[in-house]
Amino acid sequence: MNPFEKCPVCGGELREKEVEKLLRGGDHTASLRIIAEVCLHCGEHLYAEETVRKFERIRNKLRRQDFSDFKPLGQSFSVERHWTDKAVQPTT
Ligand SMILES: [Zn+2]
Repeated sequence: MNPFEKCPVCGGELREKEVEKLLRGGDHTASLRIIAEVCLHCGEHLYAEETVRKFERIRNKLRRQDFSDFKPLGQSFSVERHWTDKAVQPTT
């Protein structure tokens, strides 16, 4: 079941945890709660192969705007550029 024994990034110990994953397809996003292996050291999330395939199917549904099995969750927004530009101060 568990394809990983140690974190491939840092070699840390992994624990099975339920995490929230955000998926994007086209302009749409969907969130789901899913079991992942989470590294106790660096926080890396690892997913089983079948879970990754599930993510791909969900992304494809979002791209095709096929929202069956999805429940609306309010709106999502993209923040205007000037908000993010301000955060980067030129160091002169
Ligand atoms: Zn790690």
